[in-house]
Amino acid sequence: MRKKIIVANWKLNSNIKNISIFLKNLKLNISSYLKYNTVVIAPSTIYLERVYKKINNLNVFLGAQDVNLNKKGAFTGETSILMLKDVGVKYVIVGHSERRLFHNESNELIAKKFSLIKNSYLIPILCVGESKDEKRRNQTKEIIKNQLNTIFELLGEKAFINSIIAYEPIWAIGTGLSADPVYVESINKFIKDYINHYSSNNLEEIIVQYGGSINSKNAQSFLQKPNIDGLLVGSASLDYKEFLEIIKISNDILCK
Ligand code: PEP
Repeated sequence: MRKKIIVANWKLNSNIKNISIFLKNLKLNISSYLKYNTVVIAPSTIYLERVYKKINNLNVFLGAQDVNLNKKGAFTGETSILMLKDVGVKYVIVGHSERRLFHNESNELIAKKFSLIKNSYLIPILCVGESKDEKRRNQTKEIIKNQLNTIFELLGEKAFINSIIAYEPIWAIGTGLSADPVYVESINKFIKDYINHYSSNNLEEIIVQYGGSINSKNAQSFLQKPNIDGLLVGSASLDYKEFLEIIKISNDILCK
């Protein structure tokens, strides 16, 4: 199995004091767990530079939670891709369900952001997934296909090279009700097969993570699956003990 990618999405949480405690403990403990893991931390924009300074020499990467489509100009309150690059960002989360829901982000807008991120030589982490109602109506695969298609339409068959997809069923995010790992494995396999089918190349290297109420107790059952290439972790990633334990579990699985 190849390296797993573990991403911390801190959302609108934490503060200078807690970040300092988190990063101090990360520094003390992480080096032995990085052999089989790529680790990314995505703090709120205001803390990006602070986090970068502490993780840069640890081989841990900086992620952003969003980007504006405009590179500069009169867009009060926004952050451009140039600014993200300037402070050391390497990965950008795009299409998170909270942005789709609270900021009315459409598949079309998300595709444009995805394209901007790739054209700027950063790595997009595209979140896809269905709502509870859509799952009940058996529409999961249709929803995901639509989410991927708008990106294929804009960028062509090579769209998902050098990018990451996070399967995040909306009903599992922040609810404490993680999805069944067997179900996630089947959806992740579906995503890979769909992308392979759409592109004439055989894209062996498609990376598909899972996100939704992951913690140190359930992480192993997901990470053991061959088509779950890592985790996007929300609330559990705010607690350094939890986050380090998840990274350790991932490393231990691949060590064997
Ligand atoms: C997320 O927001 O991407 C997420 C997975 O959150 P949580 O782990 O808190 O469910």
